[in-house]
Amino acid sequence: MHKNSLILSALTVLAAVPAVAATPDTARHQAQIDQIVQEISPARIEGYINKLVGFRTRHTMSDTVSETEGIGAARRWIKSELERCGASQGGRLQVAFDSHIAPVSARISRPTEIVNVVATLPGTQPASVDRMYVVSGHYDSRNTDIMDAKGDAPGANDDASGTAAVMEMACVMAKYKFDATLVFMTVAAEEQGLLGAAHWAEQAKQKNLNIAGMFTNDIIGSSRDEHGKVDNTQVRLFAEGLPVQKENSDAVRTLIQTGGENDSLSRQLARAVKEAGERYVPKFKVNVIQRRDRYLRGGDHMPFLERGYAALRFTEPAEDFNHQHQNIRTEKGVLIGDLPQYDDFNYIAQVARVNAAALSSLSLAPAAPAKVQVRTAKLQNDTELVWQANAEPDLAGYRIVWRDTSSAEWQGSQFVGKATEFTLPLSKDNYYFGVQAIDNDGNTSPASYPTPLR
Ligand SMILES: [Zn+2]
Repeated sequence: MHKNSLILSALTVLAAVPAVAATPDTARHQAQIDQIVQEISPARIEGYINKLVGFRTRHTMSDTVSETEGIGAARRWIKSELERCGASQGGRLQVAFDSHIAPVSARISRPTEIVNVVATLPGTQPASVDRMYVVSGHYDSRNTDIMDAKGDAPGANDDASGTAAVMEMACVMAKYKFDATLVFMTVAAEEQGLLGAAHWAEQAKQKNLNIAGMFTNDIIGSSRDEHGKVDNTQVRLFAEGLPVQKENSDAVRTLIQTGGENDSLSRQLARAVKEAGERYVPKFKVNVIQRRDRYLRGGDHMPFLERGYAALRFTEPAEDFNHQHQNIRTEKGVLIGDLPQYDDFNYIAQVARVNAAALSSLSLAPAAPAKVQVRTAKLQNDTELVWQANAEPDLAGYRIVWRDTSSAEWQGSQFVGKATEFTLPLSKDNYYFGVQAIDNDGNTSPASYPTPLR
């Protein structure tokens, strides 16, 4: 009731503003994204997972010489599979190893080559090709003893599920065109301390790459909780608020000063992912959890967060810890271990569809507007927003969104055409605002949070 009245009263007031071009339809389905979502195949995902499990162990320090067992065989197979698929889908997918030697550390007993398999689909719009979205899963696995590089460690859920989802997305999406660049990454040494992802994220930072968003898929394999209850209608999306830093950056201090704890880059990205995921995958909820990760746990989004990038983690709704990080064994008649019979391939496909819809939507949309500011030089009850113009040739204009300070999701919106400033008859003290960029097809960027302009 309150929600509706906010939108209605705001729109009523806003009817007096100068007319702008018709609002693009931001709720429509893009045919290309519907097709991608449809093509994601549970059967192919099952095939990828069974093949990965067949390498017996994918422990980061396991055998690299054998053609049939260990992490070396696994990564060569992933690479060749992505190459084969890329070639059959138009030849635009660029597949490469990203390798480095990790020195001895708490979970690395001898210098070890850590190899990520990275498949890049270059963007096709010059104004957007430098903007990148990264999606990952980790292909290494582990046993109860983190240093056990020999025992069977199937890792069917943790994280063959995420690896298979990323391979399936790469393969399906490779034949389509997106404005921005997509990076499909399967990484190693997650279990040994997020080493593969950290190496790639550090290179990205040093090269000053524009990573506009990153998602890791880690433990997305099962819809069944430890009591046997099935919930295949949702996925958790972990989204950090304020980054954990010894000293706050200026950007973080500004967020704190203006009450923007829930408007970090990752939270804005999570809102966009939830919107696109739920639009294209019906009856499936993206449950945004407003924290970095589960207690006692971490994932490959963290090295990206630590370098200032927006990054999120997808994980199944209720984990069964008997099926993670456990030697295969039977206890009191119960089979323990991370085995493929505990995976739900239809469920994994649903999570892959949410990822693919969000990646497609973000990489077809313009960049989030830059230098969004709210004028605060004088005391007034209106909200004056200004921002920098976007460069994309297919830009339709900008949309201002707002919500109550106690709400997590946008409640009201106003399309303003190609203006680069706008005054709303709503108090900046009482609402949170954001500015989005929208293209002619209705593809919408994440919102940018305004910083104060004095
Ligand atoms: Zn994992």
